[in-house]
Amino acid sequence: MSALLDSYADVAGADVVQHLRQLAAPLRGLKIVNINSTRAGGGVAEILHKLVPLMQALELDVRWEVITGGGAFYQCTKAMHNALQGQPAPLSEALLRAYEQTNADNAETLAPVLRDADVVFIHDPQPAALLRYLGERKGKWIWRCHIDASHPQRSVWRYLREFIADYDASVFSLADFARPLPHPVYLVPPSIDPLSEKNRDLPAWQVTEACHRHQVDSERPLMLQVSRFDRFKDPLGVIAAYRLARQFMPALQLVLAGGSADDDPEGAAVLEEVHAAAAGDDDIKVLLLPSDAHLTINALQRAGQFVLQKSLREGFGLTVTEAMWKGKPVIGGDTGGIRLQVINHHTGFLVSTPEGAALRVRYLHQRGDIAAEMGAKAREFVRENFLITRQLRDYLTLVTSVLHAREGRLELS
Ligand code: UDP
Repeated sequence: MSALLDSYADVAGADVVQHLRQLAAPLRGLKIVNINSTRAGGGVAEILHKLVPLMQALELDVRWEVITGGGAFYQCTKAMHNALQGQPAPLSEALLRAYEQTNADNAETLAPVLRDADVVFIHDPQPAALLRYLGERKGKWIWRCHIDASHPQRSVWRYLREFIADYDASVFSLADFARPLPHPVYLVPPSIDPLSEKNRDLPAWQVTEACHRHQVDSERPLMLQVSRFDRFKDPLGVIAAYRLARQFMPALQLVLAGGSADDDPEGAAVLEEVHAAAAGDDDIKVLLLPSDAHLTINALQRAGQFVLQKSLREGFGLTVTEAMWKGKPVIGGDTGGIRLQVINHHTGFLVSTPEGAALRVRYLHQRGDIAAEMGAKAREFVRENFLITRQLRDYLTLVTSVLHAREGRLELS
């Protein structure tokens, strides 16, 4: 019996852990490989760091490999990412050739692992062409899309679809994002690990200490957004909302905490824009955190009274789940996966403009009693829907289903 798995019984329920063991038993020893394009930064890496050890604890033979590429490759995949999220993105022939060549090179390097795998999860567009260049394969291949692909630029989707059509199944985070594909499409929302450094309970002194370390006054109200510096996260909109909210709450401070991701070449430019917009206001702290600053983020999410995730597009928004788990009613952009989590007026507020965000800040400020009620609901909503144990259950069910797709009947326990 794995102690790691048992530790989840307290928070998710003993029956949930027992169910995971039942689902995993027939899959024991199965070789599963996950491939993405970065080990640090962003939600995909965040989840894989937790999911892989848990699957190993269930005696599955799980590996996580990361593809590597050069500047042109990441420029191309960032443009693809933006285009899938609906933004016109220039994709020259040269960039597409870099994408194909990088996938071909990585397919060759990873061939011994990939050819032998029973199930391969390919995360997002970056490694999506590996299958094409691998040639022969034994296992089932699943494309796992973490982004909001509901309104993609058509030409880019048409290009990627050629590669993805070869897969045995695809997984999207919510129904709105799913694309028509010639194979079964599954819906699995992401999740957080309640026992990780980022989400476990913290004593009050650690929260205060983190505030002091970053020159945040723990006695004054704090507005927070944790995000990579990415235009879709709308950091400038958050600054605009803060400025409006300051008019009725002069003591308000703002923290924009973010880091860079290895596969995101635009981060530095956006960070510069943020610094320029924040210049001259000492109550705005722009924190560029290292990728392992989980405790700091945990503490800031607990310290913030007004947690924003004012994204303009969002695949899911793990930062929303993380803050909700800490009892915060999140003020989130009315888009993508945020809508799955923020139930307007119940677990938080959905907003479309800086003005809307500032109004909700004012409401939460004036109605502390309702803010506390909404925060408690938010935490329960995450416990029921967005803990890692639920995602693990979904993946085990998915693997079982993909492996037995041709059989007429499936016994899950
Ligand atoms: N994150 C982090 N450091 C940062 C910024 C973000 O560790 O400086 C984490 C954040 O806590 C969350 C993940 O990275 O767990 C971001 O996932 P999300 O789905 O919110 O956005 P993505 O970056 O995948 O678009």
